[in-house]
Order: sequence, then C-alpha cells, then structure tokens
Amino acid sequence: MVRFGKWLYRLGFMPGTSGNLSVRLDRERLLVTPTGASKYLLRSSDMVIVDLEGRHLDGSRKATSELGMHLAVYRQREDVAAVIHAHPPVATAFACSGKALDEMLCQEAAMTLGPVPLASYATTGTEEVAASLEPLIADHQAILMANHGAVSYGATLLDAFLKMETVEHLAVIRLATHQLGPAQVLTPEQLQQLVRAKARYLQNAI
Ligand SMILES: [Zn+2]
Repeated sequence: MVRFGKWLYRLGFMPGTSGNLSVRLDRERLLVTPTGASKYLLRSSDMVIVDLEGRHLDGSRKATSELGMHLAVYRQREDVAAVIHAHPPVATAFACSGKALDEMLCQEAAMTLGPVPLASYATTGTEEVAASLEPLIADHQAILMANHGAVSYGATLLDAFLKMETVEHLAVIRLATHQLGPAQVLTPEQLQQLVRAKARYLQNAI
C-alpha cells in the first residue's frame, strides 16, 4: 500500500491528501490508509485496521473519511481484495462534466475494463457515497463519481491500480478523440470478437 500510494501520487492521481487505498486482510478485517495524509509520505506504521462495519481495530491513526465507499465494494464483491479511490485529473474532469466513460473506443480497455459508469452526485464522507455506488458495483470494474473522482477494485492491489491507470488513459484518449473529430466507436460485432479474443488470451495465460 505504501508503494502503490507513492505510485498513484507520482502519477498525479492523489494530489494533496486526497485518495485512499485498502486491502482485505481476511474475512473480517481490512487494512486501510489513514485520513489526512499525503500518499507520498505514507509509512506502513500509518495504516489502520478496521472491520467490515468500519469499526477501528488497530493502528494509531484514524481511518480514511471515505471508508464507506470501500466497505460498499467489499460487501457486494467477495472476489474483491483491494479498492483504490483516486482523483485522476482527466477522468475527474469527465465526472465533473456529468459524462461516463462508457463509449467503447479502445480494444484493450474494452477487454480489460469495460464501460466505466458515472455514479450520481454524493457528498464526500457521507453515507450518500456508498448509496450512489451500490447499484453499479456488481457489474463494473471501476466507477466515476460525480464532481469527485473514481474508484476501482480488483483481486489484488496491482489489479485495482492497473484499472485506475486504464480509467485515466481512457479519459485522455476519449478527450483527444473527440477533439480530432467524430469518434469511430467499436461496433457490437467488433466487441463480440474482442470477447472471443479475451477468452483465447485467458486460455493461453493458464
Ligand atoms: Zn475523494
């Protein structure tokens, strides 16, 4: 978490004290980043252990104020072992413009990430955040949060990180594509072929 926090900070995805990370320790406990800390300066001793209700179990610092969003993901997705919340600038600009990243433009992102929806507006640090994400968590890998940022999740911290990185990459590509002219969106047939290509790829990887 220290390493990925630094990486995300250096990418400009977690400016100031924004952004937070968490991992599942076991069936009952999560390790989360503390509130009010730069992710560049974070040390392992700063991390906090909480239960799935968000109750503090261990650590000298207070857990992130955005813990509710992490808990909402873990509650719905048993396959998820890591959650990242960040403010990547171009993806956040889409979230501030009321636009989802659901246009299928890039083959790679279509295969690995799929559409990234936009959750409705919620005040940070309140229960509204979890409520706005809940309808979208099951069927997506990452979600934009209106006027706020993005959340991604996966089987490992690296998995969640790569998805966050791809969200920002997709936002940059989409912005440039629309500046260049009409976008050539992937057709349903092309998307079907990509589903088959992904299945072949997964088979080869075993
Ligand atoms: Zn945030």
